[in-house]
Amino acid sequence: MVDDAHAEQGSTRHTGLVSESPGGSRICIVTGANRGIGLEVVRQLSDRGDTVVLGCREVDAGERAASGFAASIGTVLVRWLDVLDAGSMTAIADELTGSFGRLDVLVNNAAIHYDTWQRPSTADLQIVEEAWATNVLGPWRAVHAFLPLLRASGHGRIVNVSSESGSLASMRSDTPAYSVSKAALNALTKQLAADLRRDRVLVNSVCPGWVATDMGGPGGRPVGDGAASVVWAVDLPDDGPTGGFFRDGRPVPF
Ligand code: NAP
Repeated sequence: MVDDAHAEQGSTRHTGLVSESPGGSRICIVTGANRGIGLEVVRQLSDRGDTVVLGCREVDAGERAASGFAASIGTVLVRWLDVLDAGSMTAIADELTGSFGRLDVLVNNAAIHYDTWQRPSTADLQIVEEAWATNVLGPWRAVHAFLPLLRASGHGRIVNVSSESGSLASMRSDTPAYSVSKAALNALTKQLAADLRRDRVLVNSVCPGWVATDMGGPGGRPVGDGAASVVWAVDLPDDGPTGGFFRDGRPVPF
């Protein structure tokens, strides 16, 4: 359902030395981009002159976050985007269809519930359901909303921001809601990669590593390093890998 009150929110920031030719830069969307790794991915893409939709649940928070991009050469479009709400994404898709007719990059970054306090045998299934809804169905819903535009690109990239917590090869009994959701996200990556190969859309999972954000807590590596691990998969050439799982450009076991 489209929430008109929210759909009307959002603004366009033309930051710094503006390079606004739609054909001269990639058109990108990052979900959950008002803070943490998502915000830094927006910054890194914008620094290269890409046009980036900063997707956020609270447009004011997105605006405040984007105000730090004065030196970027790209265009940042702050838009309401809740991965639980298909209407928020179809509204953006409609806008991009009118403005650019394509989308080159979808970064599925938004996620919740790094449930360090739980074990699978006693896990609160409400938490599990919420993690599933945001971390798995959210990216899936985003793909459905933006796929026509990604197909139109001819060079589409879907980057699912996953975690080594979702690796079956090293799966333990901690963070059950989060880990199971990221394992499922990795499965979705493989499914979509096979499905979209003929459309020349590359689909990969990326682990940013342990990063010092609200989710990661103190002690992790700088957010710039985590975001660079994500941007590596955005920058893949047309003959690059698809259906893989990577951290810092190196394969991670599924
Ligand atoms: P974070 O600081 O907690 O930020 C999460 C972002 O997701 C926020 O912008 C949040 O928005 C947004 N979000 C939550 N639910 C949403 C929804 N329904 N719709 C749209 N946006 C929503 O997390 P982070 O550390 O930057 O993590 C980013 C990604 O990296 C996640 O996929 C995470 O699993 C992955 N990751 C992180 C680490 C780490 O060490 N940090 C390690 C491995 C993987 P609000 O501000 O509105 O809540």
